[in-house]
Amino acid sequence: MAETPSVTITGQCRCGEVRFAFDGPVLLTAACHCRGCQRMTGSAFSLTTATVLSRFTVTKGETVLGGLRGDARHHFCDGCKSWLFTTHEALRDMVNVRTTMLDQLPAEPPFVEMFTDEALPWVKTGAKHSFAQFPAADEFGPLMQEFAATAAG
Ligand SMILES: [Zn+2]
Ligand SMILES: [Zn+2]
Repeated sequence: MAETPSVTITGQCRCGEVRFAFDGPVLLTAACHCRGCQRMTGSAFSLTTATVLSRFTVTKGETVLGGLRGDARHHFCDGCKSWLFTTHEALRDMVNVRTTMLDQLPAEPPFVEMFTDEALPWVKTGAKHSFAQFPAADEFGPLMQEFAATAAG
C-alpha cells in the first residue's frame, strides 16, 4: 500500500461531548444507501471514512453502543445520539468513521457507494464505483489498492 503522510484527522459528534482523532491512512471512503443507514442517519445514506483501528482514539468523552447492537458495533454519543463510528469483528483492524463527523470535510465524493438497490431514486453521490448491494469480500482489496493509488496522486 502507498505510504500516506501521517496527518492527524479529528472529528466530533453534534454536541462535542465526544471527540476522536486518527493518524492512520484513510483506506477507503464510501457511501451506503442501505435502509439501516437511512434509518440510523435519518437521511438518504451514510458516509464512511475507513481507517486503521489501532491508530484511532476517542480523545474526549465516551461512546455508547446503538443501532442493532449485534456484530457491528455502532458507536454513538450518549448526549446528542450522533452515530460516530462503527467497528466490527470481521473488519479486524479497521474502523468506519462517519465522514460527516470530521472537522474538515473532504471535497471529493465517496470512492465507493453500495446498496444502490435501496437508494432513494433521486440520490446521486458521484462515487467512482457503484455496487447494487454489499461488495463481495474479495472486491475490497483491489478497491483499497486503487483508492490508495488515487489518493497518492
Ligand atoms: Zn454528542
Ligand atoms: Zn448501510
